[in-house]
Amino acid sequence: MTQSGFHLESTYAELPGIFFSKLSPTPVSQPELVIFNEKLADEIGLDLSGMDGEERTKLLSGNLVPDGTEPFAQAYAGHQFGNFTMLGDGRAIVLGEHITSSGQRLDLQFKGSGRTPYSRGGDGRAALGPMLREYVISEGMHALGIPTTRSLAVVATGETVYRENELPGAILTRIAGSHIRVGTFEYASLHEDKAITQALLDYLIDRHFPAIKEKDNQALALLEAVIEQQAGLITHWMRVGFIHGVMNTDNMALSGETIDYGPCAFMDVFAPDTVFSSIDRKGRYAYANQPFIAQWNLARLAESLLPLMHDEREDAIGMAEDSLNAFEQVYKAKWLSMMGTKLGLAETKKEDEQLVTDLLDWMHENATDYTNTFRDLSQEELPDGELYATESFQAWHTRWQARLGEEEDLDSSLALRKSVNPVVIPRNHKVEEALQAGEEGDHKPFHDLLSALENPYEDGDHLTPYQSPPKPEEKVLQTFCGT
Ligand code: AMP
Ligand code: MG
Repeated sequence: MTQSGFHLESTYAELPGIFFSKLSPTPVSQPELVIFNEKLADEIGLDLSGMDGEERTKLLSGNLVPDGTEPFAQAYAGHQFGNFTMLGDGRAIVLGEHITSSGQRLDLQFKGSGRTPYSRGGDGRAALGPMLREYVISEGMHALGIPTTRSLAVVATGETVYRENELPGAILTRIAGSHIRVGTFEYASLHEDKAITQALLDYLIDRHFPAIKEKDNQALALLEAVIEQQAGLITHWMRVGFIHGVMNTDNMALSGETIDYGPCAFMDVFAPDTVFSSIDRKGRYAYANQPFIAQWNLARLAESLLPLMHDEREDAIGMAEDSLNAFEQVYKAKWLSMMGTKLGLAETKKEDEQLVTDLLDWMHENATDYTNTFRDLSQEELPDGELYATESFQAWHTRWQARLGEEEDLDSSLALRKSVNPVVIPRNHKVEEALQAGEEGDHKPFHDLLSALENPYEDGDHLTPYQSPPKPEEKVLQTFCGT
């Protein structure tokens, strides 16, 4: 294209044709840029400076498809709440893969860009509120140090989308390591043609797991690498109290990034069975279930890879089962070590598990705020408070202090705690408040929230309004997909 520094490739479209459909976004009537992430654009070396404001808005609404780009929608399947379904990008289109100055390949995807061959009954569009929600939570997750897709821009389309109400339409530009999901492998394996799954595996390995190229059994090595990767990701979620809400296999990205922010939410009061999503009626995706669901999803990935693991199905199943069974241990070790850091322990011992679970039990019984309790434990002195004066807490505190006494350096223990226990998270009531104000034309709360989330591990007086748990009347009990 003519504009400077902007160059997109489409290597995904070199896969067998069943994996995608080439098409352009459907133009919208009156695009208006709502927010553009200059910092992210800089970080990834995406130079849109050759475009004036109008051209940029046209680009980010899908109204202008630069010469030489070949946009496509991806085909995939997935298990939604345990049930297998054919899916695909029903409202998303990848404009192409942007190569950063350091050589990283990143998908530039529009979400809400019109119907595709995979839209089924849907309109291919998205509403402004949910796209701003994805923007703020994904950027918040990134600032918390958690692998995630990023948000580059939101454009209002000037069109109405019809859900339960009439809502303003919008398009989110999402940046992702890739959009290959567990569900993409499920889709590939449906074709019962080894060459199809092999092509996807080769592509994934090339793009995300180059070290596996050297391995004899690449399918098995990939499964093991993804087990490690997802165990790490879920550990991060558990650390900050994040509840994804729709951990369907099509929402588990093999780039290792958190993807698809629908009814996701952060827990305020610590309760392992917390669920926010209005559609998760049985609590399948509750906070404490997330590691088990990750393992369940990984079993679906393993099934899709069986023919590539071994010619004898029984042998392949044996190999996959061994790896999948190891997930529990891999996760448990990561979780304990992470919880240890939340308590300032540079290294955890087996006995530390009791210290951790006793604190969590105490927090659960006393309904304390997850984020604030751990941040309180990250101060030099515990703040005054009735709860901390109770006998039950003091008994735990004494044990913790004794254990801290074994640490080599108490200053680094404190610094460690401060580096993993955030001061601020995107609390539901603050997110809802910001989105609501935005709907009424006041964008300040949204921008204030975004800046409050930028450095979540640094104390600051300006953060006070974002630290308080919701008052009873502010509590958000349910979140919605908004699709
Ligand atoms: P999600 O809940 O966003 O992960 O979406 C699940 C599936 O539904 C994906 O295949 C989406 O592409 C599809 N989908 C969601 N919303 C729409 C829509 N408005 N129009 C068409 N397809 C949609
Ligand atoms: Mg999805």
